[in-house]
Amino acid sequence: MSIHDLDFLKEKVEGLKEAGVYRKLPVLNGRNSSTIILDGKEMVNLSSNNYLGLANDPDLKEAAKKAIDKYGVGAGAVRTIIGNMDLHEELEKKLAEFKKSPRAFIFQSGYDCNVGTIQAITEKGDLIISDELNHASIIDGIRMTKADKAIFKHSDMEDLERVLKENEGKYKNTLIITDGVFSMDGDLAKLPEIVELAEKYNALTYVDDAHGSGVMGSHGRGTVDHYGLHGRVDFVIGTLSKAIGVKGGYVACNEAAYEWLNHRARPVLFSTTLSPADTAACIASVEKLIKTDELQVKLWDNAKYFKEKLGKLGFNTGHSETPITPVIIGDEAKSMEFSRKLREYGVFGSAIVFPTVPRGTGRVRCMISAAHTKEELDKAVDAFEKAGKDLGII
Ligand code: PMP
Repeated sequence: MSIHDLDFLKEKVEGLKEAGVYRKLPVLNGRNSSTIILDGKEMVNLSSNNYLGLANDPDLKEAAKKAIDKYGVGAGAVRTIIGNMDLHEELEKKLAEFKKSPRAFIFQSGYDCNVGTIQAITEKGDLIISDELNHASIIDGIRMTKADKAIFKHSDMEDLERVLKENEGKYKNTLIITDGVFSMDGDLAKLPEIVELAEKYNALTYVDDAHGSGVMGSHGRGTVDHYGLHGRVDFVIGTLSKAIGVKGGYVACNEAAYEWLNHRARPVLFSTTLSPADTAACIASVEKLIKTDELQVKLWDNAKYFKEKLGKLGFNTGHSETPITPVIIGDEAKSMEFSRKLREYGVFGSAIVFPTVPRGTGRVRCMISAAHTKEELDKAVDAFEKAGKDLGII
């Protein structure tokens, strides 16, 4: 028991309540799929990154069970102390094949992957140039290095070139970092232009494709594949927790980067790696993606169907180019209220507010999955219509 009552934290939480942005996390009873049971009630789920429905795939579950029987439930220690299980190496090989990359290096999460990779590959005397809307894990990775940083306006190529020009010749390495798919708006990075600028100014490139892997490009190989840029991006990050359906992260990179990460990425040196069950399920998942693009086709079909219906109702769904469908409300408290209303109508769509998105751009972000049936999507659209009318949004 603490001897302090930590009133300073209590006051902060009270502040959240007064601003209408306090959240009590819902409790899922059972699996995470296209529908979920929340606090005992079945709902259409629009809040999961399970883009392809693989989180409940029978082949993945079977692979995980077999791995538990053969390997147990824990990896035992950090990789640099106990070594890799053969499963970990197999997953890295499969990921490299999938991403058409010389190597792939796995981490415990996409978050760890960004933090660990950025911190390991940059140092004092380097410059990192980062899109202003890059994911928090990129920002945290940048905080952990002694490299200088510069921010360019979101997807603004003139601004990126201005920063590159101003700093030409001043640094040992310059690294441009961008999300491949921006997770809050669903827009794509202008990768072809970024790569051209990087080549012109001799900069390295780093793409966090957490929301592009499994979704964009042939068989879900990602935004680099979508734009035909294989071999022209130095570091491509993916997560195993979204479309792949399990847990973990990886960076597709070359041999030199692989070797260096093995020696210097802090999450590798100081934190235990993926469990055998997670690793085996990831292998089964990547094998499935290599074999067929059936799930991507279903995902894109569902996304188009849902977006068109919401657009017709008059909602502002922003400028997404991917299955991520933001319904932008603006006011933060109203976004939270809208999300609560949706739940009353049997749909779980989370409100996203500051600090995850800038103030005044509150929204309910809908994540469409290949697992959704058309009936489930219709039910969701009905709920949006009712909730939107209740709150005077449409
Ligand atoms: N990068 C981006 C762009 C993300 O959206 C996320 C997940 N929110 C991550 C990295 C972190 O991935 P993970 O959940 O696997 O830690």
